[in-house]
Amino acid sequence: MNKAYDILLNPIEFLIDWIVRLIVYFFVPIPLAAEMIVQFRGIVFAFLLNGILVILVLIIFLTHWATNPLSTQQALANVNLPIDGTFIETDIPLQNPLGGQGLTLVNITAGYMDPNYTFFGGIHTGVDFVPNDAYYQSNTTYKETGTVVVYSTINGTARYYIDQYGSHTIEIVNSKNNIKVIFMHLNNILVATGDTISAGKPVGTMGNTGFTTGEHLHYEIRENHDGNWIPVNPLGYIQ
Ligand SMILES: [Zn+2]
Repeated sequence: MNKAYDILLNPIEFLIDWIVRLIVYFFVPIPLAAEMIVQFRGIVFAFLLNGILVILVLIIFLTHWATNPLSTQQALANVNLPIDGTFIETDIPLQNPLGGQGLTLVNITAGYMDPNYTFFGGIHTGVDFVPNDAYYQSNTTYKETGTVVVYSTINGTARYYIDQYGSHTIEIVNSKNNIKVIFMHLNNILVATGDTISAGKPVGTMGNTGFTTGEHLHYEIRENHDGNWIPVNPLGYIQ
């Protein structure tokens, strides 16, 4: 076999064989015939492919780890966000979870039972909020931390879980066990399961975890009817 010919006729094959020969020689440092080295092609390629796959998985893992919202959780917890005193201490969720009077600081990007969701076969059991211009201009916590803080709207007990789509979710159930509020897509989580929460307590920050196309707060209110938690329109509660 004349390799000088091969490089002209088939440069890619020549290059591959050259790599194979180099790697084989690294593990078996004795001169081998080209016919022998060809036998190693399959093993060498499998080895190289595995190496590439391992590196790819590592890159994906590290990227995910670095951008995973919970890796910044500790940093934000240290900021020690204060309770928003403008919230009314109540078992009934009368305020919107981003603060302020009524809906003055929020825009609604999808309503309760939004027809767009129904069109695609889904049921939107809550309201999607994003802060509006008035919020960004007035909110001092946002200016200090760069995060939109989500507050509990009732006094109750917290539960934290990640739903099937990866949404970091907080639920607060009031002490009468007749109303619960649900906050979804949170990035930072600021309370733990079992915590006793007052209305106005920061529970997390608005984010984009789970099934979402962008940062927003999905907010639900559910009423306990004979043990079934039935979603209701949150706008019916917010005053
Ligand atoms: Zn939603």
